[in-house]
Amino acid sequence: MRRWIKDPLAVLAKGAEGGLVVENGKISQLVGRGEKPQCDSTVEASQHVILPGLINTHHHFYQTLTRAHPDAINKELFDWLKALYPVWARLNPEAHRIATRLALTEMMMSGVTTSSDHHYVFPPGLDDAMDIQVDEAVKLGMRMTVTRGSMNLSVKDGGLPPDSVVQDQDTILADCERVIGKYHQRGEGAQIQIGLAPCSPFSVTRDLMRETAVLAEKHDCRLHTHLAETHDEDAFCLATFKMRPLDYLEDCGWLSSRTWLAHGIHFNDADIKRLGKHGVGICHCPTSNMTLASGRCRTCDLEAAGVPVGLGVDGSASNDASNLMEGVRHALLLNRLTYGQKVTHFDVLRWATQGSAACLGRSDIGEIAVGKQADLAMFKLDELRFSGAGDPLAALVLCGAQRADRVMIAGAWRVVDGLPVGLDLAQLRSQHGRAAKAFLNA
Ligand code: ZN
Repeated sequence: MRRWIKDPLAVLAKGAEGGLVVENGKISQLVGRGEKPQCDSTVEASQHVILPGLINTHHHFYQTLTRAHPDAINKELFDWLKALYPVWARLNPEAHRIATRLALTEMMMSGVTTSSDHHYVFPPGLDDAMDIQVDEAVKLGMRMTVTRGSMNLSVKDGGLPPDSVVQDQDTILADCERVIGKYHQRGEGAQIQIGLAPCSPFSVTRDLMRETAVLAEKHDCRLHTHLAETHDEDAFCLATFKMRPLDYLEDCGWLSSRTWLAHGIHFNDADIKRLGKHGVGICHCPTSNMTLASGRCRTCDLEAAGVPVGLGVDGSASNDASNLMEGVRHALLLNRLTYGQKVTHFDVLRWATQGSAACLGRSDIGEIAVGKQADLAMFKLDELRFSGAGDPLAALVLCGAQRADRVMIAGAWRVVDGLPVGLDLAQLRSQHGRAAKAFLNA
């Protein structure tokens, strides 16, 4: 079956003015202006702006249950975390499942076709957190890099989280091996990949960081963690490890091209050079960084040094939405403050697609090109906010597109007419809203 997605209003690809042909889940042909490819069916796209499916490289799905939480709003990271850890300790399998479904659906509706999740909260009874996430992603047809997160450094040992949300190192490493063995797909077109993701310098021991890097090397999978997010983290690393965060990362054996870091804000020139030399990726999370007033990531300097730069929404409690198109717009506006007009809508769209794919170590997604996976996000410009817009691609970012009209993943339509296929949105909203009530304090 060759399907021609025909004559789009605009497309983020060169030589595809007449659209593209999808065959066996991949892009098999780009169609030039006025060309008529051989095909079995056509999809009229004259009202659509087509992007490669967006790729979200940092999230915490369970945090959709604690958005705009009264105990945490208007706080910076450490105080925000200390307020939320005991609340998150209430997470159970049912709530985790519905939070995962909601986050995946929200993202898909905003044009995301691949997402990572960093799940690091494992209160007693939530041993199958990874299995739940894989199950939900497969049901919805989303691609995912599911990261097995971890915390083993609690307050009593000098860390930030309470005992109620940490696990011991042996349990963590055994579960990492289990989920890699059970779910990690390799090669082109993989739907589910597993990454390993100790949470942060202030919630994980040095030994667990080191052992996790060894395990990632053994199984050839990705490594992920939060780093250089706040000045508080700098101070913690200096006090605890007698070194700055990036030196600590190197000491733990993490400076490698299999690593991508969330935030990466407080790096100096020498750090940036070192990150580029080792090919460490950075997931820029503009919305979260503005919400928590964490600082501004040096995106363009990082890219110039050879660092892959991707985008992430970050957990819903520090973004309060899982909308990566909104994140694209925030990336443009925030980076204009740092770099002026040097940053364009093409840059931020590249970060959300090719850059994010590089962070996840994938060359088969993130681009509309022959041989790539048929992962597409198609937007209509029919809302009031777009009326009068001249440049369709710029309009998506500048006018603030929020919702895709159609989304294709591996050649299958997952969103049609703005709605997820085969999912009852009203039911999802009411189930999730009910589950979230358990996370509010009396
Ligand atoms: Zn995060």
